[in-house]
Amino acid sequence: MNHAAERSPFAARSVLAAIAALATFSVLAAGNGCSDSQQAAPPFPDASPLDSGSPDAQLPIDGGDGADATDMRHGAPSDKYPAFQVKMPRVESKGGPVIAAPHFVLITFPNDPMADALETFVADFLKSPYWTATTNEYGVGAATSTNVRLQETLPAQWSDVGPWLRGKLDGTHSELPASNENTIYVVYYPPGARDPDTQHDSMACTEYGGLHASITDTGAAPIVYARIPRCLEYNGTIGFDALTIATAHELVESATNPLESSKPAWVGLAADSQEWAFPFGYYTREFELTDLCFAMPPVKPLGLPYFVQRSWSNAASAAFRDPCTAGVDEVYFNSIPALPDRIQVYDPVSGQIVETPGIILPLGESRTIELSLASDGPSQAWTISTTEFFSPKPAKFLVKELDRTSGRNGEKVYLTIRWAEPAGKNSQTHATILNKLGNRTTFWPFPVVSPE
Ligand SMILES: [Zn+2]
Repeated sequence: MNHAAERSPFAARSVLAAIAALATFSVLAAGNGCSDSQQAAPPFPDASPLDSGSPDAQLPIDGGDGADATDMRHGAPSDKYPAFQVKMPRVESKGGPVIAAPHFVLITFPNDPMADALETFVADFLKSPYWTATTNEYGVGAATSTNVRLQETLPAQWSDVGPWLRGKLDGTHSELPASNENTIYVVYYPPGARDPDTQHDSMACTEYGGLHASITDTGAAPIVYARIPRCLEYNGTIGFDALTIATAHELVESATNPLESSKPAWVGLAADSQEWAFPFGYYTREFELTDLCFAMPPVKPLGLPYFVQRSWSNAASAAFRDPCTAGVDEVYFNSIPALPDRIQVYDPVSGQIVETPGIILPLGESRTIELSLASDGPSQAWTISTTEFFSPKPAKFLVKELDRTSGRNGEKVYLTIRWAEPAGKNSQTHATILNKLGNRTTFWPFPVVSPE
């Protein structure tokens, strides 16, 4: 039985606390993976002009009426979208199977006041453009659902939802359809139910809003399932919204990475996209598709009157659309830092050194980083700010100064950074560019280290 269940990206809090003693990585000492979790989400670096001859990207706004050198440095708005060629991040398959035609079996218990609403939500959700946009490119097609309302109450003492489910599928319980290669069971805990797994009970609704897992030692088809605790609040959402968000998350991931432990499939950023993993906690953790968009605000996709979470699309990312897709037609925008250095960063969880693009910033010096502003269509100017992950609030490890705080496609903005005291040798932080336009936020993370 495998319970490498997935949870929110910030489940490693206690592990991070343990690194406080690591003197050589002093800037991480007070790290808390949650520090900026509500503000940011996914993305990456390496911006260069689309081609060096691109007039849109290179022309000064107007050379003839007194534009000075500073203006020329900032370029001009362009009607070529995106104005710059951008290397975008991607998730890689580990080679395991996906469930091509998922059939979700929704299991509720008696007197669940939300059973009707949850069943209706899932049926609508699976027919929505969101489902196609978040799963189709990974080999997952149309999905269906069946509703099972158990007559029994959840036992007060049960060992775990996995063994409980397995017992239900021993061939003597006609109330549950047998598992085949397309089946994914979704167990909705009734209000007030405790997670049978003590560890998970303590984390339910704080560290995770849902889990998916698989049982692979049955000798028959693996049993793939998700469990959704009844959270009144999770990750800033409350009531029914918290349940639809958690359900959408687990449905996408259980189909795209059903054998998450034994034969993982779509999980983990590619090696050349590792800098994008850090805002979620650490470099070497393998994030599933929806985890990567955990920090983005929930959305109501077109035609779906429910809040769901955005989920990662390699196709969208490759096309410089929002990698955290919701199946919605919207302009994507970002400010991409030029990262000239190949650096080594320390992963506090695995203890490994990970190589990524980034910035080497000597102590006592400052460096100026060029940000290339790009969108995939016309937009208003967006505002630009910066933040850092893994730094104790309110203190930050870097002093960061932007020479402009807004701009649009084709323009350039310059960020100057230096270490704040008391940075030392081997200091390390993860700076992030935040872009805001209306109610949308995008970001671009990049690591900064000091030389030894
Ligand atoms: Zn997840």
